[in-house]
Amino acid sequence: MTFKSLGLSDAFIKAVEEKGYTKPSPIQQKAIPQILQGKDVLASAQTGTGKTAGFTLPVLQYLTETKHPKYRPLRALVLTPTRELAAQVYDNVREYSKYVNIKSAVVFGGVKPASQIATLKRGVDILVATPGRLLDLHDQKAVSFKRIDVLILDEADRMLDMGFVRDINKIISFMPAKRQNLMFSATFSKDIKKLANGILKNPVEVETAPQNSTAKKVTHSVFKVDKKRKTEFTVKLIKENNWNQVLIFTRTKHGANKLTQNLVKAKISAAAIHGNKSQGARTKALRDFKDNSIRVLVATDIAARGLDIPLLPHVINYELPNVPEDYVHRIGRTGRAGAKGEAISLVCSEETEYQKEIEKLLKEELNSTVVEGFEPTDTAAPKRAATQKKGSFKKKSNSTSSNTSSTKKPKRKPHFKGNKPNNSSGRGRTGAPKKKRI
Ligand code: ADP
Ligand code: MG
Repeated sequence: MTFKSLGLSDAFIKAVEEKGYTKPSPIQQKAIPQILQGKDVLASAQTGTGKTAGFTLPVLQYLTETKHPKYRPLRALVLTPTRELAAQVYDNVREYSKYVNIKSAVVFGGVKPASQIATLKRGVDILVATPGRLLDLHDQKAVSFKRIDVLILDEADRMLDMGFVRDINKIISFMPAKRQNLMFSATFSKDIKKLANGILKNPVEVETAPQNSTAKKVTHSVFKVDKKRKTEFTVKLIKENNWNQVLIFTRTKHGANKLTQNLVKAKISAAAIHGNKSQGARTKALRDFKDNSIRVLVATDIAARGLDIPLLPHVINYELPNVPEDYVHRIGRTGRAGAKGEAISLVCSEETEYQKEIEKLLKEELNSTVVEGFEPTDTAAPKRAATQKKGSFKKKSNSTSSNTSSTKKPKRKPHFKGNKPNNSSGRGRTGAPKKKRI
């Protein structure tokens, strides 16, 4: 199978060859022909298997073939959950469209909007965006969705969970009903699929591996460690193994800051990336990590989705996520594009239920080890896992849950009381169910 046999034209074949791709990945083989036929597609494939090119290449080809000679209305929109992912997808779009006359742009929050507005004014065919900033720009009439032909949700299950779904629905409400819809992710829960089917029309479902499965070349295992000794253990792991590029996930922003400080104290260069950092600091931390100027990047789940750090060898879950799908995405930052990777999770007594939920999702038991000198003594009771992605429409009560703030939110009628949009344009950002900043 070649890119040519999928129906892609020479301009795109040349562009992917320059990227070093010799043949289409399985998800590209399955999704590209369907998208070229104009079908709605719900695609799931493991992390790091080239989903971005899977939707970008056929959409670019469509845009090229149907371009108006004079006008350049916005016709394709890619939405992503984080700014860093938007920037990365945009980079890909630019690379893949190098040999065609297509203009692309990216917009996201945390930076001044002026240059984004100016770019949009000059006309773009395809825009990559995070929802919040995009709606702000739409409110300011800097962008119109009236001519959108293709809507793409990358990390679609995340885009449809409660943190984003209102913004997404709002954006969609400004689009023509007749359009192509594409949704891509490595994970889709049943409830999210139902929600997706409200947007997709007669979708073709393509998948390349069992649902919710992890990348093949990631070995992942658990070390049982007491909560209070995790930092010490992490330092030991990194130093003794001489690991030089390690992405570490913590559950909280505060936890990320604290661990970063402790690593630096232990003479391991590190930076933190999370939602309370300025965009400048976020961009710098990721760049320094990618170019090996720092050894460790400590992140909240802000870095769990979509980020492609080629050849990243090690991921550590300093704490397990309480949403099992997040585990799949976190460890999927390693083992990308067929490379090998290793993911290690440090699990204390409080997290044993999280581990069980993850094992249930993966249909696989994680290999657990106790290291001499670090034998666990904790007896704290396990916390309950969120068996559902936060905000999904699960009826099951979470009332016994002692963890996540999101599960404490009212489930059914989250947002009307005292909360009617006070601006007639209806944005009502302040009234929207608060996105938990991670
Ligand atoms: P996903 O979205 O599935 O997690 P990405 O689209 O981010 O994966 O791609 C992961 C990596 O694989 C990127 O570095 C990308 O350049 C590379 N890649 C994509 N398609 C191919 C291909 N056909 N052959 C080789 N590498 C590829
Ligand atoms: Mg992706």
